[in-house]
Amino acid sequence: MVITVRFAPSPTGFLHLGGLRTALYNYLFARKHDGQFLLRIEDTDQQRVVPSSIGDIINVLNWAGIKPDKGPFSQEDVPNYVQSARIKLYNEKANELLDKGLAYRCFCSTTRLDLLRREAIKNRSIPRYDNRCRHLTDKEVDEKLSSNARYAVRFRCEEQIISVDDLIFDETTFDLKNSEGDFVIIKSDSFPSYHLANVIDDHSMNVTHVLRGEEWLLSTPKHLMIYKAFGWEPPRFAHIPIILNEDGKKLSKRHQDLGVMNLKSRGFYPETIINYLILSAGGYEPKSPRMSTLEEIVENFDLTKINRARCKISHSKLKAFNRQAIKIKLEEDRKGFLSSLRDYLKQRFTSELINDETDEHLIFLFTESQGRYSNFGEFADEIGFVWTECQPSWSCDQFIPLGDIEKSIESVLNLIAKEWDSSESRIDKLSFVKTFCSENKFDYRLVMKFLRYSLVNHEIGLPVGQMLFILGKEEFIRRVRNGIQYTKSQLAST
Ligand SMILES: [Zn+2]
Repeated sequence: MVITVRFAPSPTGFLHLGGLRTALYNYLFARKHDGQFLLRIEDTDQQRVVPSSIGDIINVLNWAGIKPDKGPFSQEDVPNYVQSARIKLYNEKANELLDKGLAYRCFCSTTRLDLLRREAIKNRSIPRYDNRCRHLTDKEVDEKLSSNARYAVRFRCEEQIISVDDLIFDETTFDLKNSEGDFVIIKSDSFPSYHLANVIDDHSMNVTHVLRGEEWLLSTPKHLMIYKAFGWEPPRFAHIPIILNEDGKKLSKRHQDLGVMNLKSRGFYPETIINYLILSAGGYEPKSPRMSTLEEIVENFDLTKINRARCKISHSKLKAFNRQAIKIKLEEDRKGFLSSLRDYLKQRFTSELINDETDEHLIFLFTESQGRYSNFGEFADEIGFVWTECQPSWSCDQFIPLGDIEKSIESVLNLIAKEWDSSESRIDKLSFVKTFCSENKFDYRLVMKFLRYSLVNHEIGLPVGQMLFILGKEEFIRRVRNGIQYTKSQLAST
């Protein structure tokens, strides 16, 4: 028997870390057991489909180095791996269940079903279908069919106790008395429900192990009932605990910053993401503190060692991993590093300015802060002042204690023009300014604050001395003079 697993995302937008982790575990399991890793697209909820996302999913998997063995990579393969191209098959299979009396047609209107749901919520009970159409006679059904009434197909669900033997959660028992009633397998638009399509596909694609998100554990008894109805052997299940954002909320399409493509464009590396995901969710223990390669992870991967607890994304850990990856890239693949850095910067700043930058200067800017940046976004936030002059919008009242702004700041600028020497005054060595301020009774911290606002329009960022070092004396002085003019005019108009 060939171990076969599948990653089966819905193409409803970008793939985030949670989705990538599911794909990763499937990949690792397949490689570990010399098996097959399939990509299947579950697009039966057509209203939510975002057409570009199939391509994005494939690109993300390739980028992460976890390429599926089979999937909808060519037009020929679409009918094999894209559910919307397999609607006929699901309907044929549902008809088999109808013929066997294991399913039935439900003619209830959405109004009636909504009413049932609202009633249940009002009575604080679980919303469930009351199985009304189960009891329609053949004659009643024929009459409705001949009048072209719309219908869904429901699975006849017996009250029973079903246990799911999960490879991660062990055995979980479900009492179907508390279930939602007979569930839909074919919707009134003749598209299948998730439950039906995923069972038929897993069976017809010879899937032996279903590794998917914990949110599907609750649905697994339904899937087991469908397998039984068809007389098929079910696969083994392994449900992977949900991944949460730092705030404890489930990852969703709202968490744009945790979209894999977004992380990629910000300069996160695949090895960072893979090492981070596996270390936070378990299944592999590294033998050394450095990052592991995919081959090393495959070799020591153990599905049953995946943590049962839900894991929370730690942004700071993710960044720490990427700092490590960047350090390696700077040593081993400087050219590749620079090319992705340039691509990113061109999206944020004027392309010509970035093209004009030499490789040496970009590396200087990136490494000047001694490994502080974990990604391109952080770098651009802090170094962006090099390529964009700030539009002053700060509140000027805070600088009133400096007295005559022009006079006091100009005297500081004159001093910098005279005393500052780029060859020795690196980083924050502006102590001569401090001495000058105390001799002249200027508030040194307020002076520095003014200089900083003139350069970046806010309080956070690099030390002023470092910005001076990066910009050079002339440009620094020119920009601070603009700040003086802005402040003067603001204070004069109030
Ligand atoms: Zn009904």
